[in-house]
Amino acid sequence: MSFYNFEDTDSGEQDIHYMKLALEEAKKALAEDEIPIGAIVVSKNRIIGRGYNLTERFNDVTAHAEMQAFTSATQTIGGKYLKDCTLYVTIEPCVMCAGASYWTQISRIVYGAREEKRGFISKGSNLLHPKTVLKGGVMAEECAAMMKSFFAKRR
Ligand SMILES: [Zn+2]
Repeated sequence: MSFYNFEDTDSGEQDIHYMKLALEEAKKALAEDEIPIGAIVVSKNRIIGRGYNLTERFNDVTAHAEMQAFTSATQTIGGKYLKDCTLYVTIEPCVMCAGASYWTQISRIVYGAREEKRGFISKGSNLLHPKTVLKGGVMAEECAAMMKSFFAKRR
């Protein structure tokens, strides 16, 4: 049993399109030797926020891709809520980012690859806003491959 509202409709092509753009953000992180996770926020077919992991550059453990994307989106729209928006993120969010998404009241979260250890889904309590619908596994292989190549390089 999942606590979460998983989406079962197939909104395939559009999600793949936007996930590719989130992967472009992840590539920017990779180029800066940051853990390669990227995110974008889309509202009515418009990209209103983007971000990638910057925890090394900012020496800030909260500088996750999702946090950057939320801040950038709320600056674009001039409001703190992200109703009618979708977050695309290459890796399943952690509990901090899931918690932040609660406060934004975002309508949809689409992630690429699962993150078994640090991801929020296995943490067992409902961290998302009740209105937030979740979809996972979009371009999961590509998203995971970027992480694997990063950690392989470090060994
Ligand atoms: Zn996070």
